[in-house]
Amino acid sequence: MLKGSCLCGGVRYEIDGEITRIGLCHCSMCRKASGTAFAANAPVSQEHFHIVAGEDLLRSYASSEAKQRWFCSNCGSPIYSRSNAYPHLVRIRVGALDSPVGIKPDYHYLLSEKADWDTTDDALPRFGDPEPSAD
Ligand SMILES: [Zn+2]
Ligand SMILES: [Zn+2]
Repeated sequence: MLKGSCLCGGVRYEIDGEITRIGLCHCSMCRKASGTAFAANAPVSQEHFHIVAGEDLLRSYASSEAKQRWFCSNCGSPIYSRSNAYPHLVRIRVGALDSPVGIKPDYHYLLSEKADWDTTDDALPRFGDPEPSAD
């Protein structure tokens, strides 16, 4: 089981099982929502994701018609997003995990929107457009 929490500790969650994939998204929306060069996102089955504290603190913002981004209304930490295209998944923000994750990122995506100060120069696979199927 993996555990995660927001910056203020008000929102806490647990994931049954492991994370199997991490994608680093450089799109302008993830940059703004995270305040940095990219967001580290991991798909998790909805049925394995449990908010165990602070559900009342969670708020969502629809960054597009198809995507809701959930964050702590007290401290602003991004927690997860949900896309209409993958209603059975949440895409957690890996930086909020408290548990060791045990894997490294798999790829970058939406580098077509990366910031000009982004220093990404590793050898991970790169995708210019939306990530490969999130399943
Ligand atoms: Zn918080
Ligand atoms: Zn993004």
